[in-house]
Amino acid sequence: MELTALTIHEMRKHLAAGDVSAAELTDAFLRRIHELDGRINAFIRITENQAREAAERADRRLREGKAAPLTGIPLALKDIFVTEGIETTCASNILKGFVPPYDGTAVARLREQDAVFLGKLNMDEFAMGSSNENSAFGPVKNPWDPNRVAGGSSGGSAAAVAAHMAAGTLGTDTGGSIRQPASHCGVVGLKPTYGRVSRYGVIAYASSLDQVGPLARDVEDCALLLQAIAGFDARDATSVDLPVADYPATLKNGVKSLRIGRPKEYFITGLDADVAAAINAALEVYAGLGAEIVDISLPHTDYAVACYYLIATAEASSNLARFEGVRFGQRVDRGDGLLEMYRNTRAQGFGAEVKRRIMLGTFALSSGYYDAYYLKAQKVRTLIREDFTAAFGQVDVILTPVAPTPAFSLGEKIDNPLQMYLSDIFTIPVNLAGTCALSLPCGFSAGGLPIGMQLIGKPFAEETILRTAYAFEAATATAERPPLPSAEPAVP
Ligand code: GLN
Repeated sequence: MELTALTIHEMRKHLAAGDVSAAELTDAFLRRIHELDGRINAFIRITENQAREAAERADRRLREGKAAPLTGIPLALKDIFVTEGIETTCASNILKGFVPPYDGTAVARLREQDAVFLGKLNMDEFAMGSSNENSAFGPVKNPWDPNRVAGGSSGGSAAAVAAHMAAGTLGTDTGGSIRQPASHCGVVGLKPTYGRVSRYGVIAYASSLDQVGPLARDVEDCALLLQAIAGFDARDATSVDLPVADYPATLKNGVKSLRIGRPKEYFITGLDADVAAAINAALEVYAGLGAEIVDISLPHTDYAVACYYLIATAEASSNLARFEGVRFGQRVDRGDGLLEMYRNTRAQGFGAEVKRRIMLGTFALSSGYYDAYYLKAQKVRTLIREDFTAAFGQVDVILTPVAPTPAFSLGEKIDNPLQMYLSDIFTIPVNLAGTCALSLPCGFSAGGLPIGMQLIGKPFAEETILRTAYAFEAATATAERPPLPSAEPAVP
């Protein structure tokens, strides 16, 4: 049995039956990480000792018959999650050496179940990027083709799952950072509704947009992970006190009579032909399963990228003001006074893209420009949210591509920020509207790269998009199963 190739729900069965231990699973994943990650670069830090200790605790709990759904499952965390006693850098030099004194809520909830954490995952610095090339630890390589990006900003979270270096991972999504890398790496990624999962202990990028979510091999695994982390938390003022559905239990409810919207604004020139073909084929699969496909319009889609890059940078410039070398991470002090210390710490600590965004955001918020930029963007955001409200009067789920193209080449867009920003065109509107969406593998390009579709749901209707995704996965499982990425990717 190839232990690292199992899904979480398969691992659970073996753990419950006692034919595999958490220690064996953990060993297998650690071995795999040591073999492969030199070429993928998904991990910033491997927490081998803590993982083995957690596995022992999990095995004890299993033996005592007290297992929770994720007891003994080897997971890994984007380095944006603060973890007690484990260095947390957000892939930035400015946070080097920062060892948080506590776990955030999502992490704590997984730890309570005695899940095993293998390490901290690579990402774009402070989650700013779409390619994982903005990391102080170097880019993540796509496990399907190491010359291509894994996507971003949760590139490590997606690549680790795709390359079987973790059974599941947590990422964050501000403008697409779970869904886009999931799509590029051929895994399932879910951005829950704003307020569904606590962000307590998650380093903030753009607070009105950030959300925590799972990445996993299949839909059922995604449902299991979401179940563990979803729900109200008094320590996050944006957390919403609504009941959490039983996601794994409702997966098989099917899509008969479900109305699926196809927004015309998402099928534009510039959409890669292979992506368009895969999305259209997926719509046909759903029609065959008894869903009704409805043409809809989200008329303000065109303004989403501009609106997002004003709001996200404005909020980021404010959030990142706290990193000045006094309380967190690395200080650059040449003894020439406090202001110079701030200046040198920030000049050396932040990477180029983060600095660009702090400048853009500070500009957008400065007096005299606030009304013209930030306030205007907020108004446009309302129009975009209303587009979705109107569309959800007609349909239950909206189906779109996740990204206009499959994974692009490393270096292809790094010198052209506008091109890079445009690659988020299909994921950003969902964050502006605050609703939930899932990225699901739905095919391959002619070049053999994974393609993902996006299923967008009504606010707090994670159950609906999960069961919609599950129906597709089940219907296509007997057709061509995505080949697993080679254990030996070509050396780049
Ligand atoms: N690519 C987008 C950005 O750079 C989204 C990132 C994210 O979701 N964290 O802002």
